[in-house]
Amino acid sequence: MASTEPDAGSDVASITTTAVKDGDDYIISGSKIFITNATIGDYLLVLCVTNPQAPRKHDRLSTIIVETNRPGYEATKLHGKLSIRCSDTAEVVFKEVRVPRSNLVGVEGKGFYQLMDFFNRARLEGGAGLAIGTAQGALDKAISHVKKRKAFGGTLAQLGVVQSKIAEMATILEAGRSLLYRAAAGVDAGHADHALIAMAKWYTCEMAVKVADEAIQLHGGYGILEEYDVAHYWRDAKVLEIFEGTKEVEKVLIGKTLLGGK
Ligand SMILES: Cc1cc2nc3c(=O)[nH]c(=O)nc-3n(C[C@H](O)[C@H](O)[C@H](O)COP(=O)(O)OP(=O)(O)OC[C@H]3O[C@@H](n4cnc5c(N)ncnc54)[C@H](O)[C@@H]3O)c2cc1C
Repeated sequence: MASTEPDAGSDVASITTTAVKDGDDYIISGSKIFITNATIGDYLLVLCVTNPQAPRKHDRLSTIIVETNRPGYEATKLHGKLSIRCSDTAEVVFKEVRVPRSNLVGVEGKGFYQLMDFFNRARLEGGAGLAIGTAQGALDKAISHVKKRKAFGGTLAQLGVVQSKIAEMATILEAGRSLLYRAAAGVDAGHADHALIAMAKWYTCEMAVKVADEAIQLHGGYGILEEYDVAHYWRDAKVLEIFEGTKEVEKVLIGKTLLGGK
C-alpha cells in the first residue's frame, strides 16, 4: 500500500501523486517513500489524486492498482534502517506510469476513506499485534536472563527491584493485550471503534518500546549485544510508534473523537 510521500506522511490528504485520465487509462506521476515490499511486490495499491477539483481534500483521492513491471515504475530499496531490517522498505517513483482505468479500486474519490478502513485492521494486526509479540518476546528473554544471572550471592531474580521491574513489564503488557483483543473483537464483529483502535495502537506500541528497553536494562551490558536479541526487540518496537499512524496522530484521533472535533 503506497500512500506516504516525501512531503506528506501523517497528513495523508495532502499527497500530490496524480492519476490523470487518458482514454481508457490513467497516467500516474509522482513519488512515494517508505513503501513496504515495493522492490519485491508484483502489485501496489497506490493512493493518487484523481479529483483535484473536489472542494474537500479528502474527496480528491483514489486507490489504483499498479503492476510493478509497468514502464516508468522505479523502486529503490532504502538501506541503513534502525528497525525491521528484514522487511523491504523502498522509495518509489512513478514516471508517467500508464495503467488501465479498470485498475481503479472501487470508485473515484474514496481513496482516503478506503485507507482509513484499511488502517482499522492494519493498526491492530501490523501495529498492536506486532507490539504484543515483541513485548512478550522481550519479557520472556528478561525473565530467563534474571533467573540465571548470579549477583550479590543469589540471582538477579531474587532482588526486589528486579521483581518490581518484571511485574511492571508484565502488567503493562497484559493491559495492552486486553486493549488489543477488545478493539479487534469490535472489528471482527463489524463495528470498528476508531478511538479504541487508536488507543490500542498507541498504547501497545509505546508499551513495547518500554518493555524492550527494560529488557535491555535487565541484561546489563549483554543487552546491547545483538546475540542476546533484546536490542533487536527494542529496534523493532521503535518503528511501531511511527508507521500505520504515529502515536501522536493516534492521540489526535482519540482526542477528536472524545471531544467531538473541538
Ligand atoms: C519501516 C517503515 C515502513 C513503512 N511502510 C509504509 C508503507 O508500506 N506504505 C506507506 O504508505 N507508508 C509506509 N510507511 C510510512 C509511515 O506510514 C510514515 O512514516 C508515517 O505515517 C509518518 O509520516 P512521516 O514519516 O512523513 O512523518 P511526519 O508526518 O512528518 O511526522 C513527523 C512527526 O510529527 C508528528 N505529527 C505530524 N502530524 C501531527 C499532528 N497533526 N499532531 C501531532 N503530531 C503530528 C508525528 O507524530 C511525528 O512525530 C512506513 C514507514 C516506515 C518507517
